[in-house]
Amino acid sequence: MNIKNYINGNFQNPKNNGWIDNYNPSNGEIYGQIPNSSKEDVEDGYLSAKSAFKQWSKTTLEDRSRILIKISELLEKNLDRFTEAESKDNGKPISLAKAIDIPRAASNFRFFGNAITQFASESHESIGQNAINYTLRQPIGVVGCISPWNLPLYLFTWKIAPAIAAGNCVVAKPSEVTPMTAYLLGEICNEAGLPKGVLNIVHGLGTTTGQSIIEHPDIKAISFTGGTATGAHIAKVAAPMFKKLSLELGGKNPNIIFADCDYEDMLNTTVRSSFANQGQICLCGSRIFVEETMYNTFKTDFVAKVKQLKVGHPSDLDTNIGALVSKSHFEKVMEYINIGKQEGGKILCGGNEVKVEGYENGYYLEPTVIEVQNDDCRVNQEEIFGPVVTIMPFKSEEDVLKMANEVKYGLSATLWTNDLKRTMRMTNELEAGIVWVNTWMLRDLRTPFGGVKESGVGREGGFEALRFFTEAKNVCIKY
Ligand code: NDP
Repeated sequence: MNIKNYINGNFQNPKNNGWIDNYNPSNGEIYGQIPNSSKEDVEDGYLSAKSAFKQWSKTTLEDRSRILIKISELLEKNLDRFTEAESKDNGKPISLAKAIDIPRAASNFRFFGNAITQFASESHESIGQNAINYTLRQPIGVVGCISPWNLPLYLFTWKIAPAIAAGNCVVAKPSEVTPMTAYLLGEICNEAGLPKGVLNIVHGLGTTTGQSIIEHPDIKAISFTGGTATGAHIAKVAAPMFKKLSLELGGKNPNIIFADCDYEDMLNTTVRSSFANQGQICLCGSRIFVEETMYNTFKTDFVAKVKQLKVGHPSDLDTNIGALVSKSHFEKVMEYINIGKQEGGKILCGGNEVKVEGYENGYYLEPTVIEVQNDDCRVNQEEIFGPVVTIMPFKSEEDVLKMANEVKYGLSATLWTNDLKRTMRMTNELEAGIVWVNTWMLRDLRTPFGGVKESGVGREGGFEALRFFTEAKNVCIKY
C-alpha cells in the first residue's frame, strides 16, 4: 500500500516521485512505500498552511474545539483500523495499541479541544499609574511538528492537537519508520471538517524532509520528540533563525526501589516499566536500583516474572513483547547486550534473538536483565531503548541519589517507598522533569511533561503546550 502526503486536504504523491520502502517489523517484509519527500513538498505544505492560517487563527474557539473533538470521536470510531495499522507498522502488541496508543491519540484531540476553551491570559492593573496591561496569546503562524517511531500516533497528535487548537497551521512529519497512522489521520481530519491546509503531513527521511522543515525560514516554531543527537542538531539549525523550540529527547531513567515499598505492586509495575512497548518508551525505567537488604529476593522474583513474558507476533492477543521497530534498531540493541557482557555485566535472563514460528525474519528479542557492578558502565549511561534493563543494589539514600543523577539525561525517575520524609527529600533532589512515586506512567494530560539536562528543553502538556504554541503580546493602555 502506498502512502501519500496530505497537503491542503488532498492526498498527493511526492513531486520527485521518490519512494521509500515501508517494512513490517513482525516479518521483516516490505509492505508498502512512503513518499521520499523533498524540499518542494515541504514548501507545498508550508504554502498551504500559510494560506489557511488567516482564517483558522480567527476561527472561534468553539468551532476549533468542536472540530478537534470530532477528530477524537472519529479516531474512537475507527479504533480497530488504527490499532491494526499501528501494530503492523511498529511491531507493538495489538493489545497495547488498542489499550494505549490509539485511545491516547483520541484523548489528545479531546483534551486540547476542551483545554483551548479554558485557556486564559493575564491582566495587570498598574495602580497609581492609571494604566492597565493585558496579555494576548496569539498563534505563532506556521509551525513544524516532528515525531518519533515508538509511540507513533500518540506522540504525533500530542503535538498537532495543541498546535491547531491554539490557532496555528502545521507542517508535520512522522517518523519514516512508522508513517501509517499519520497517513490515516488525514482522512479523519477531512471527515471531521478540519479546513484544508490547517494540517499538512509530509512523509520522508529525517535528514531531507525533516531537515527542510527545521531550516524553513518561515516555519517559526518546531516541536520535536526524538533522540538527543537529533535534538542538538535541530537546536543548532534553528537558533540563528530564532525559532521557538520544544525538544523532548532521550532518557536513561532510574527506577529506585526501597525495601519498605508495597512489594507486589512494585514488582508488577517494574516488569511493565522495564518492558512495555519492547522497552521502547522514553520513560521506561531502564536502570533499576534496589536496596541491598532485599536485593536477592527482588532479583529472584523479578527474573522469574520476566521469564514468563511471552515474545510473539504482535497480533496474538497473549503476546507481551512484540517485534522491535526495525532491523537497524534490533542490531543496535543486540550490540548493547554485547557491550554489557564485555563490561562484566551478568545476563540474568534473555539476551538472545527469538525466532517466532512463521515469522522467522521478524525482529524479536528476549526481554533481558543485566546485573551490573557499578553505574559507570555504558549500559547504565547510554540509552538503549529496547527490552533491556540493568539491576544493581545500593546501600544508602545518598548513594542511590548520586547514581540516579549521574547521567547526562534527566527525563523521568520512579521511586518506590512508603517513607514520606524520604519521598520528600528524594523528589526534591532527583534531576528529572517527571518523578513517579509508587507508580509509573500514570499520566494526567494537564501536567507539564518534559526533561532536564540532555532530555530536552521546554514542557509539553496542558496549558504549557498552549503557551508554547502561542506568542504572548502585552498591551499597556494608559487612561
Ligand atoms: P530520531 O531523533 O532519530 O528521530 C525522530 C524524528 O526526527 C523522526 O521523525 C526523524 O525522521 C526525524 N529526524 C531525523 N533527523 C532529522 C533532521 N536532521 N531534521 C529534522 N528531523 C529529523 O529518534 P527516533 O525516531 O529514533 O526515536 C527514538 C528517540 O526518541 C529516543 O532517543 C527516545 O528516547 C526519544 N523519545 C523521547 C520522548 C520524550 O518525550 N522525551 C518520547 C519518545 C521518544 P526519520 O525517522 O525519518 O529519521
